[in-house]
Amino acid sequence: MTEKRRKAIIRRRIFIALVAALLAVIIVLVAVIVAIIKNGSNINNDDNSSGAVLVSSDASSNQSDTSSAESEVDDTPSVFVTPTGVTLDTKFSRLLLINGEHPLPDDYDTNVREYLVEIDDQYRNNDYVTQIHKEVYPYITAMVAAAQAEGVNLQVWSPFRSYAIQNDLFQRQVNRVGGDEDLAATVVARPGTSEHNTGLCADFNMASDAFENTDMYTWMCENAEDYGFILRYPKDKIDITGVIYESWHWRFVGIDVAKEINELGLTLEEYIELKNIDPAIDMYGDDSANGTAEQIID
Ligand SMILES: [Zn+2]
Repeated sequence: MTEKRRKAIIRRRIFIALVAALLAVIIVLVAVIVAIIKNGSNINNDDNSSGAVLVSSDASSNQSDTSSAESEVDDTPSVFVTPTGVTLDTKFSRLLLINGEHPLPDDYDTNVREYLVEIDDQYRNNDYVTQIHKEVYPYITAMVAAAQAEGVNLQVWSPFRSYAIQNDLFQRQVNRVGGDEDLAATVVARPGTSEHNTGLCADFNMASDAFENTDMYTWMCENAEDYGFILRYPKDKIDITGVIYESWHWRFVGIDVAKEINELGLTLEEYIELKNIDPAIDMYGDDSANGTAEQIID
């Protein structure tokens, strides 16, 4: 073989190697572009098959997906910046279930006191009961502020009630219905079985059916889930909640959870069962699990 021919062979091998390398680069580029296009949506499915769905931090997103309470903890920041500029953690949730079958423990009334904060009077229209769970505070005040900024006169009427106040309300209802405690309990919860004893819910503007015909109610139906609140006792779920339809009573569960509950058309009772969540979860609040609500208060 001549020197010339050997050089020609070497050149050809180098050329083939270069073409192969170029092809490899092109294939990788195409794969990357396809992957980017596929992930163009806001939702990224969690690969660890835990069922968790991560929601992007896009504040304008109306995605109804959620990371459920049972799913693994992920550190992806997920926030909703409200129209009045408050930053809320969409993953923060409080799923404590309180009803006739799941009453609060006897010591709850004392222990919950350290978690209560005063609601500023610009957000409420009742001086008799004025406190809310401090973890719910940033969400409820941001919600009321957003409604008021739109010209809707939403106000907190009845948030936290002590055992004593609940007992007083219940006894009045018992008297009203001629002494039938079971009948009374369908309208006013027995003390210890009312969400109002937790500070995680509130009645708005009035505890009256008239609320359903107000623009406050319409606004809540459209926006409450963005602030983590659900209509707790819907008209068509009385057999499940055991409580009459209350258009004025809204419960904080958490933003992502509220959206999921609404999308699934469930009550808190049904959601807790579906997700196999301990009804007594977060009984006294847990500062270590979620620091965000605290930070927002500051
Ligand atoms: Zn209520």
